[in-house]
Amino acid sequence: MKYPDARHYIGGRFVDGGPRFLDVHNPADGSTISRVPLGDAGVVDQAVAAAAKAYSSWSQTPVKERVQVFFRYKALLEKHLKELGQLITEEHGKVAGEAEAEILKAIELTEFACSLPQLIAGEVLEVSRGVECRVERSPLGVVAAINPFNFPSMVPHWTIPNAIALGNAFIMKPSELVPLSAARIAELLKEAGLPDGVFNIVHGDREVAEALCDHPKVQAVTFVGSTKVAQSVYRRSTGNLKRALCLGGAKNHIIVMPDADPEMAAGGVLAAMAGCTGQRCMAASVMVAVSKTDHIVNRLAEQARSIVTGKDVGPVITRVAKERIEGYITEAEKGGARVLVDGRGAVVKGKEGGWYVGATVIDQVTPEMKIAQEEVFGPVLVIVRTGSLDEAIAVENASPYGNAASIFTESGGTARAAMDRASAGMVGINVGVPVPREPFGFGGWNDSRFGVGDITGKSSIEFWTKTKKITTKWNREAGTNWMSK
Ligand code: NAD
Repeated sequence: MKYPDARHYIGGRFVDGGPRFLDVHNPADGSTISRVPLGDAGVVDQAVAAAAKAYSSWSQTPVKERVQVFFRYKALLEKHLKELGQLITEEHGKVAGEAEAEILKAIELTEFACSLPQLIAGEVLEVSRGVECRVERSPLGVVAAINPFNFPSMVPHWTIPNAIALGNAFIMKPSELVPLSAARIAELLKEAGLPDGVFNIVHGDREVAEALCDHPKVQAVTFVGSTKVAQSVYRRSTGNLKRALCLGGAKNHIIVMPDADPEMAAGGVLAAMAGCTGQRCMAASVMVAVSKTDHIVNRLAEQARSIVTGKDVGPVITRVAKERIEGYITEAEKGGARVLVDGRGAVVKGKEGGWYVGATVIDQVTPEMKIAQEEVFGPVLVIVRTGSLDEAIAVENASPYGNAASIFTESGGTARAAMDRASAGMVGINVGVPVPREPFGFGGWNDSRFGVGDITGKSSIEFWTKTKKITTKWNREAGTNWMSK
């Protein structure tokens, strides 16, 4: 299907972009479906001006009124679930079930925002006779979020509902690879009653991202994407004295112990590896198989062979990504690893132009190999063999990343040891993708996150607000002490 050119969304209106455009493709067949304008500092400036104008009254609207928009928005997401999922499939390629799961998560994130009045009720205490201290939260002002390609709707919803419900005015920069879902977010927020200018979209690439980091009126920046860019956006935003939280790439390890339930372990690892075609920061990338685990590896490989490319898993995002992923597999094979299940050269009948890589399992990989160290971001699982839990933990700890880590075992003591010693922000026990659901926050450690706190959940309240501490005395006879006269 063809879509009109994507447009910026500023002050409640869609605005034509240009003169620079990039083609947007459907990765499932390689066809060109639209174009995205690549904005510049001038467009960012217009969006900031619109957001700043809207901020003055939005920030003064009581939070209980602000969240009414999100109650209505949640109902609209539910109503349009199928259509929104289809749009994600078109621009990103992921299969229908995975695309709809993104919207379900967006609904859950919106639901959390609806509960914010209950969570942010302030603190108050009589600190001396007749003297009261209270803490109130204020929004920051104009804020911005820079998004990756792999979740065109879910990742934007990590920030939009909370930041806006807490009173900020918002500028979103979608990934230039998947710019289409953003317009529907804007339309549905407007239909839900969000005042014009509170939510804005500026399309583009690095230039727009950097203009957001540089703009003096942008108070805070969130970023989700690869580690190198996360570091650069974090340095640039904080260098400009802004608040920043930047989530980077990942290399998630799953330790499989010999006592693990074979069905749970094989199925869990496989789903964590192949789901979203491995294009998620929570994907299982390295399975660390401890001691006698051949029975689990064999079961996993057998199940991996039954995954139907194009039906169970979608394509990867670009031709370049396909070539990069296949290159990793070939290099590992040349280095002595054993390719048990080979997804190279996958072709889907009727979609020969699509960028597919089939599920791939590679055994006998050593921790020094490039494929064991770098983020592959495709449906590829490498298996590193170790003789003990200690060795397995050492492999996990050596990774510079720290998004997620899991262990499959039937032993509580072993699970506890892994929980304590894994160097990751999100840990799973017999769970392959340990994404914390609301109200728990999402965020990794080490090179997977720069900045303080998590991007969702209660911790996001700290990020999107600042506190005001107010001391009050009304009666002359109220108590005085060395602090308050
Ligand atoms: P990316 O870093 O290439 O791009 C992310 C965003 O940054 C895009 O909007 C892009 O336009 C912009 N950008 C690109 N280069 C830039 C530069 N030099 N300066 C400023 N902005 C720039 O990431 P991607 O390929 O879109 O997404 C995949 C990556 O995101 C993977 O590494 C994945 O692990 C990571 N990711 C992490 C999380 C997490 O929670 N940690 C979640 C989702 C994705």
